[in-house]
Order: sequence, then C-alpha cells, then structure tokens
Amino acid sequence: EVIGAAAEAEIRADDRAYVLHSWSAQAAIDPLPIAGAEGSYFWDYTGKRYLDFSSQLVNMNIGYQHPRLVEAIKEQAERLCMISPAFANDVRGKAARLIVERATPNMDKVFFTNGGAEANENAVRMARLHTGRHKVLAAYRSYHGATAGAIALTGDPRRWASEPGTPGIVRYWGPYLYRSAFHATTEAEESERAVQHLRDLIEVEGAQTIAAIVLETVVGTNGILVPPAGYLAGVRELCDQHGIVMIADEVMSGFGRCGEWFAIQHWGVEPDLITFAKGVNSGYVPLGGVVMSQAIAATFNERAYPGGLTYSGHPLACASAVASIEIFEDEGILEHARMLGTDVIGPGLRELAERHPSVGEVRGLGVFWALELVTDRQSRTPLVPFNAAGDAAAPMNAFAAACKDRGLWPFTHFNRTHVVPPCTTTADEARAGLAILDEALTVADGYYVG
Ligand code: PLP
Repeated sequence: EVIGAAAEAEIRADDRAYVLHSWSAQAAIDPLPIAGAEGSYFWDYTGKRYLDFSSQLVNMNIGYQHPRLVEAIKEQAERLCMISPAFANDVRGKAARLIVERATPNMDKVFFTNGGAEANENAVRMARLHTGRHKVLAAYRSYHGATAGAIALTGDPRRWASEPGTPGIVRYWGPYLYRSAFHATTEAEESERAVQHLRDLIEVEGAQTIAAIVLETVVGTNGILVPPAGYLAGVRELCDQHGIVMIADEVMSGFGRCGEWFAIQHWGVEPDLITFAKGVNSGYVPLGGVVMSQAIAATFNERAYPGGLTYSGHPLACASAVASIEIFEDEGILEHARMLGTDVIGPGLRELAERHPSVGEVRGLGVFWALELVTDRQSRTPLVPFNAAGDAAAPMNAFAAACKDRGLWPFTHFNRTHVVPPCTTTADEARAGLAILDEALTVADGYYVG
C-alpha cells in the first residue's frame, strides 16, 4: 500500500538516523515500524498483523488501546497533567490506596517511581535505612533494571558491562529444578537446598551486615522460574530470623501476569517490600513503585525519606493505574488470566511438548509461561548456548522468524520462548497462537540431535 510504504520509509529513516536503541549494536538491528495496535494485536505499515505473545516487554497486561483506559488518560490530561510530588493529589492518593488494598495485608504505603529500575533502587535504599545494614543478596538469573543500583542487583549478562558497579551485592542461586545448582532431583529437594544455600550464605556473610534479600517472585526474563512449594516461605523465615528485609520484585510478575494482583499471593507469603511497574497500568504512561510494610513505612514517620523524583506519583500515570485496576475488576481479568493458564496455555503447551522433541520443559502459571528448547532431552543441552549471539543464536532466530512469518510475535530469550500474551487475550486467540507455535517448533526440532 503506497501511503503505508511512504510513511514506513520516513519512520525508518528518522529511526535509523536519530534513535539509539536499547541493548543493541545499532548496525545490527532493523526495528519494525509499527502503525497501530488493538487488543492482542499490533500491525505494521504493510498491514501485516501480529498476535502478540510477548506483551511487548511483558507489560501490555490489559491489551492494546483499551478504550476505557485511553479515555481515563484523556480525562486526566484535560483536568491536570502534572503536579509535583510535594502536593496531595486525588488520583495519586487513590492509586496508592487501591494498590495497598490489593497487596498483602502487612502493606501500608506506596512510593511511586517512573518504572521498575527506580522502584528497585528505592526499595534497596529503604531496606538499608530501615536496617542500618548495607549488603543485599541478589540472585543469579535475575533482572532488576538498568540504572546503577538495579543493574548491580541483576544476575544476568546485562550486568557485565556495568561492572564493578555498586559494592555490597552478594549473589545466590535460586531454585531451578531443570538446571539445579543443588543437584536436586525433586521440587521438595530443590526448595529445601535453595533455602539451605541462603542460610549458609547469611552465616558466612554475617546476618548483621545484610539489609535485604531481593528476588523475583517468579523469575521473568531469565526463564519463568516458578518457585517450588516452601521456597518463598523459607526465605521469609530466614528474613524474620535475622531482621533482613525481603524484597519481592514483581515488576514483571505482578498485576495479573500470574493470575493474582501480586504473584506472591499465590504462595501466601508477605514480603516487606514489593516493587512493581509494567502491568500496574500496562505502561500506557510510565509508572512504577514500591509498596512498603507498616514497619518500613514507620521508619520514615519521624525521619525524612532521602529519595524523590520529579515525576513521583505523576497524575497522568496514577489516573491510568486507577482506571486499569478498576477495569481489571470490572472485567474479571485476574480470573481470566488464571483460566488461560489452567485451561488453555498450560495444557496447550504440554501437548506441544508431547509432539516436539525440542521442547525440554514447559513451566509457568497464569499468563506467564516458558518453553525451554533443547537439542537433546536427556542431556538438556540448550538449543543455543548461554548468552548466544550471532551465528550461535541462529537456531533461536530461525524459530522466531518462523513465528513472525506466520503472524505471531514471540518473546525469546537465550534458548527459551516465553508465552506471555496480554492477560485479556481470548482463549481462541491463545489457541491460534499455540497453533503457530506448533508449526514454528518444527524449525527447532530440525536442530534436535538427541
Ligand atoms: N524488574 C524486573 C523483574 C523486570 O522484568 C524489569 C524489566 O524488564 C525491571 C525490574 C526493570 O523495569 P524498568 O525497565 O521499568 O526499569
């Protein structure tokens, strides 16, 4: 289509000339110009539509261009776009109340940020001030954001270029039975040994030096690692024993992704701090924050909280969070997300695993799933090596291309494809996406040698 082609050429030219894209060698990428989006689909300027199994960066929980959410943002824009954090504001207060009311019962207040990294920065600051200690235990196979402190917490290769980074971060292994760091053979063993590993670390590091243990309730980009029964409770118990703050990073796992407001509610555990962003308003306007317990909030009653942001509690962002939470409830989106996991995506992926030898493991819950692709089920050799780039990543690139050719936008990371569509995706749309995955997996099977 002529108009589309002309528009696309201009967008590409400006993008290539002036935009520096995240995490990429600029010469190696060719960003696709996007013309629009609705529900679970987005489309390019040629009119090609993609069913989104990525939710962008796993943030589009409510789906694209939800009319009521767009309307709420318009209304707020007309009423009041911005007022500084020093003032009280109706939608800021209401967003904080709605979030606290839906968090674990121990929670008290919200500190708003612009996104997930800043939420983690502030959570660590709160934990250090609350405890008067400085060390933070952070997991391998984690992502916590790209600002100085958050990238230092991050346990994946994205941290390497920012090293040595901030001092005082001690790394631990979390549970991951399929590739157990503890040589465990059952979920129960994995859980027990992962907790024991933390207990040992605390002993040798000195409990009185440790401010916080940070974890992703369900590890997101690094593999959709669902914690085995007892693990989160075990971490909670260690934190209680030693006066350590438990920080649950729910930037990716919260707000419906795991079928709950906060994923940790699935396990009935109360952390001291929860960080959130993404799904709180699906990123229609940048927003994140820290939900804090009564005990931590009380630390800053008489003593100033030494942190702030010009846009903390931005009215446009907060109005969109209020509207998003109300829409979630009116439309039963949490229930729908749970149903997608138990009735459609979970069973659908297990069925794919039966037919495709390259599927080494299926794991997840809600609308938060991963297929781990391997060249050999016995040895569990990953389809591509850890952190593969260039030619070494070719098998995963070929798989992703097969998805995109057929109109499915996948979320791939290392040797995995994640199935993380909007929480509002219909059962039929999810099935259509699974059917495309079925075809694309034959490409992965082509590399199978087991
Ligand atoms: N924490 C987790 C678990 C994330 O997945 C992300 C982003 O992917 C972040 C933190 C960082 O959030 P942001 O990119 O909004 O700074």
